[in-house]
Amino acid sequence: MSTTRRRPSIVWFRRDLRLHDHPALLAACADRDEVVPLYVLDPALINGRFASPNRTWFLLESVRALRDALRGLGSDLVVRVGDPRDIVPATARAARADAVYVSRDHAPFGRARDAVVAEALARDGVTWHPCRGVLVHEPDEVRTGEGGPFSVYSPFRRAWEVLERRAAAGVPRRIPPLPTDALAGSIPSQADLGAGDGPTADARLLPEPGEPAARRRLERWLSHGVEGYAAHRDRMDLVDGTSRLSADLHLGLLSPTEVVESVARGESSDGNRIFTNELVWREFYAHVLFHRPHVRTRAFREEYESIPWSDDAGALAAWEAGRTGYPIVDAGMRQLAATGWMHNRARMITASFLTKDLLIDWRRGESCFMRHLVDGDVASNNGGWQWAASTGTDPQPYFRIFNPILQGKRFDPDGAYVRRWVPELAGVGTARIHAPWEMSDAEQAAAACRIDVDYPAPIVDHAEARARALAVYEAARRTS
Ligand code: FAD
Repeated sequence: MSTTRRRPSIVWFRRDLRLHDHPALLAACADRDEVVPLYVLDPALINGRFASPNRTWFLLESVRALRDALRGLGSDLVVRVGDPRDIVPATARAARADAVYVSRDHAPFGRARDAVVAEALARDGVTWHPCRGVLVHEPDEVRTGEGGPFSVYSPFRRAWEVLERRAAAGVPRRIPPLPTDALAGSIPSQADLGAGDGPTADARLLPEPGEPAARRRLERWLSHGVEGYAAHRDRMDLVDGTSRLSADLHLGLLSPTEVVESVARGESSDGNRIFTNELVWREFYAHVLFHRPHVRTRAFREEYESIPWSDDAGALAAWEAGRTGYPIVDAGMRQLAATGWMHNRARMITASFLTKDLLIDWRRGESCFMRHLVDGDVASNNGGWQWAASTGTDPQPYFRIFNPILQGKRFDPDGAYVRRWVPELAGVGTARIHAPWEMSDAEQAAAACRIDVDYPAPIVDHAEARARALAVYEAARRTS
């Protein structure tokens, strides 16, 4: 029997804070006597371009849950604060590790960081092992007939669907212990990181962090939600019409492969099919950002880079505060501030309103969403904003401009969503709830809501704003 001890390996957790179906963790544990699970809190991300106290809170608590789970299996989590380009090679040296395993990161920031880390490790003779785990199919596996990347969703989905999917794995049977001299370190507080004192949203309305809570959400969704998804997913007034798994998927508390597999195991239904299609949108936007990283800061459709966006700071502030005078827009923005999450239909409506009715640059909206969203994801958020602004890969045609009154009537028919998030309108009847400025003086008195006093009058006239947007978009197309 060989007595040679194999050197430790490191599994560097990033957007994969789970133990189930974790290919990098399984590979790092294979054949090793010692494994170092590592998480690095990177101030460049936490306090960077898209800093968000809500996401930082959810992240720190989810890191804590991961550490608890690892401890439960006799291991631990080494936590460090700083630049991973220094910390990962230093940790490998300190642990005398000869391999680092990660779930591959596809976004521009992560790819650039990983290239530097891998090079530094190679200089020390440490091997770098990027594994699957963040997406079902890697962005370079889904190819057009000519071998290129996709820029339209439906053909992407068809190509994605025919690729063979690996089977989801469970928790490793055993996680080898840390080297005895490895110092686990402690999880700093949010304040220590200079990232606020906690979430800006109401913590009671944020999702419970950590893998166990995410798995409970998934189970509940599979048994009670997904079959109604086709009928309910656009209804903003229904609390359980969508899965609420976005933050779990963003941070990798759930494996997307396991989610897709679990849905596929269920009875075939419109709900299952449409829900899976939504998960493919997530993969599509990751694919777009991977192959066309310029969309991070620029319009996918170059012709729209010439749009003369408005710099009306008052209008932007009114939109952000949920005080545009359009109840469905204001309800969405207030839901975002209060809960760190907004219903998808409300995201589409509020984004359309900012970019088309107010003609404010989609990048302003993108940043605002990233500041608040607990599921804030560079690829999906950018994709959603460019879709709404008609500047993206697969956009809403520029001439289709959401009418906030009709959207409200259709997808919040009784006004329950508006009344929940805009309490000034709680006394307004259903007939006027999506256009309260139409109330007579007597109706305003009866509803205890005076327009322009208790609740703002509309900051723009939708019909005029629509005509202005059409003219601006058409001019941009003509001059391109
Ligand atoms: P469900 O309807 O239950 O969908 C299941 C999962 O599919 C979601 O959790 C998500 O992972 C994925 N998904 C659904 N719709 C989309 C979509 N259109 N694009 C990409 N993935 C999708 N989603 C994010 O995860 N992060 C973001 O930062 C983000 N920003 C957005 C910005 C705008 C302007 C718009 C229009 C959409 C954005 N979305 C974003 C997509 C979508 O709104 C959210 O994924 C969804 O509302 C999350 O709620 P849910 O988990 O209940 O979704």
